[in-house]
Amino acid sequence: MTVRTRIAPSPTGDPHVGTAYIALFNLCFARLHGGQFILRIEDTDRQRSTAESEKMILDSLRWLGLDWDEGPDIGGPHGPYRQSERGSIYAQHAERLLEGGHAFKCYRTSEELDALREERRAAGLHLALKPHDLALDPDEQRRREAAGYPYVIRLQVPSEGVCVVQDMLRGQIEVDWAQVDAQILMKSDGMPTYHLANVVDDHLMGITHVLRGEEWINSAPKHQLLYEYFGWPMPELCHMPLLRNPDKSKLSKRKNPTSINYYRRMGFLPQAVTNYLGRMGWSMPDEREKFSLDEMMAHFDLQRVSLGGPVFDLDKLSWLNGVYIREDLDDAALLGALREWAFNEAYVGQILPQIRPRITTLSDAMPLAGHFFAGLPEIDERSFDGVDLERETLVTLLQFLVWRLETLTSWEKGALLEQVKLLAEHFELKMKAFLAPVFIAVTGSSHSTSVLDAMAILGSDVTRARLRHAIEVLGGVSKKQAKRLEKQYREL
Ligand code: GLU
Repeated sequence: MTVRTRIAPSPTGDPHVGTAYIALFNLCFARLHGGQFILRIEDTDRQRSTAESEKMILDSLRWLGLDWDEGPDIGGPHGPYRQSERGSIYAQHAERLLEGGHAFKCYRTSEELDALREERRAAGLHLALKPHDLALDPDEQRRREAAGYPYVIRLQVPSEGVCVVQDMLRGQIEVDWAQVDAQILMKSDGMPTYHLANVVDDHLMGITHVLRGEEWINSAPKHQLLYEYFGWPMPELCHMPLLRNPDKSKLSKRKNPTSINYYRRMGFLPQAVTNYLGRMGWSMPDEREKFSLDEMMAHFDLQRVSLGGPVFDLDKLSWLNGVYIREDLDDAALLGALREWAFNEAYVGQILPQIRPRITTLSDAMPLAGHFFAGLPEIDERSFDGVDLERETLVTLLQFLVWRLETLTSWEKGALLEQVKLLAEHFELKMKAFLAPVFIAVTGSSHSTSVLDAMAILGSDVTRARLRHAIEVLGGVSKKQAKRLEKQYREL
């Protein structure tokens, strides 16, 4: 048997470090067994999936050196590798389940579903809706069918008993069938859900081992059932531990930068990031901290993955990155890394129009543009002394801006301006007054190049990190305050 593993990201946002982490372990496992590693794009959520996000995911994984053998960009014998291009395959398979009595058409309206759930809640029952809960009176079912009502296709699931799923790291996982709902497999728009598409593709793409994040454990019983219904062998499952913030909560962009773009733009080396991800729940036999991807592949052993939530600690990563730069890069390589990072024509070219109106001698260039070549600016509470706003308002303003910026799908000046205008109105401030603290947070000084242009050029990740950093130096937001702010924000 040839071992085949895969990473199956959904292109619905920034390229997440968690995706790279899972990709790394899948890649190492495949290489250890002389097998193949596949990249599949799970873009069945048409509303949230974007081509831009897909491109960023591919770019980031490639930057980290996590190369795949088959994928949407390079093709392969089991394509297409983008689920949005495989619609007819899922339709055929859903039909096959219907014919075998393993799935059923459900004509329930969303109001009816809410009412059914409410009934169960009131009766203190588990909220999972089972096929018999959803069944309509046969006449009514026929009436809706004949009238062409919208319907979804759902999975037949047992009502009682225990489902036992085998996990490579966790052994047997037991789940009561009572907790597993009659999962939607095909939505009313004819698009498959994750569950159907994922199982069909893993089978058709010959995937033998599925290493994925622990957040998918609850899906395993449904997947196991689907494999049984189709009469297919099921790949071995391995649910990897979730990455955590230093406070042990699930790694989230609210507390830590989670986008690989951030690490790239801050000047981390890809080999250091990949190495650090390899330390997440795993260690080399000799416990050394610094190792290359090749070394990791050569010594890989899945059984040495420990399930205690690995902490993604920015300070440790920074330390490791420093070791890489100092030990591995001679002057020529360091110059090369700096060029690749920011001292290149494409990046500097964007900055020149910013400094041109303000420059008198060439030696002004760095003082004017330094913030484009820096990480987090050196600011403290006093940096905001010249801003005529209460500390509390300042923090609220910066926090609201971070939240608004998190929702942006396209990062360009026009979209940024729109957000800023909207918030300035909310705070009843003139644009200039609103932007004064933003200016300091983003550029580190109160007079510099245009702040909106700077944000556009610096990109979403660095901009948001700088705004968050400013909130921190202003004393941060307590949990209690965060709750209040969130409430105010929702009313915006
Ligand atoms: N599309 C899922 C994700 O976004 C894939 C989960 C899996 O690996 O099964 O992570």
